[in-house]
Amino acid sequence: MPEGDSIHRAARRVGAALVGSEIRSVELPQARHSRDRWAERLAGRDVRSVDAHGKHLFLRFDGDLTLHSHLRMGGAWGVYPRGGRWHRAARRAWLVIRTDEHEVVQFDGPVLELMTEGRTRFDQRLAAIGPDVLAAEFDKRAFLRRLRADDPTRGVGDALLDQRIVSGIGTVWKSEGCFLAGLSPWRRLGKVTDDQVLGVIREVRPLMERSVEGGRRQHRWVFERAGLPCRRCETPIEFRGQGDDNRNTFWCPECQR
Ligand SMILES: [Zn+2]
Repeated sequence: MPEGDSIHRAARRVGAALVGSEIRSVELPQARHSRDRWAERLAGRDVRSVDAHGKHLFLRFDGDLTLHSHLRMGGAWGVYPRGGRWHRAARRAWLVIRTDEHEVVQFDGPVLELMTEGRTRFDQRLAAIGPDVLAAEFDKRAFLRRLRADDPTRGVGDALLDQRIVSGIGTVWKSEGCFLAGLSPWRRLGKVTDDQVLGVIREVRPLMERSVEGGRRQHRWVFERAGLPCRRCETPIEFRGQGDDNRNTFWCPECQR
């Protein structure tokens, strides 16, 4: 599942291909969009910016028109030279934008919508999403306020995946961050200090930033290492689903308390 760092990376690539270039065509090939007339509305408009917020990506066109995308489990962005080979089948394309030099393709949705609101309404919608773990200045106060408004019996690992509390963290960085902060993902929110939970953010931010820059993928401390010895203490790594959605959680029962 794409996490915030891969969405930020995609936003950079898509932005580099589209911003400042003349948009030659916008197509929405899926039958579900055939009545929306989005292509006509977007025709001839420049792309002003491409921004990621958590796992959301926004293509902002001239005239307060914004395409909002969320990849959930299976969607993907591709940026190709014009006429180049795509890495998924053409029938899976939900959005195709062409410039003279590039083709930008969104595959498999599953969330793609044209937002026609002005700036204020757009900002209000963003505000409903938790602070972006990869924002230049992470909004600690908003994060803690949202976290403390949540059920104190909820496990911290589950809460960190809640995009209304903090956006951009998925199952990989949740497990890795809790390990690096020495915090059990099962610890209830009511028993976690602000500094402990901010410790998870402090640990994952530089790793995610490095990933946005396209740095080499570092080894995993616990993620997908169930039954293997902990790299610090050699205790076998444990694994269980957590929360209402039963999301994968890996942890070292010795290093994380
Ligand atoms: Zn350990």
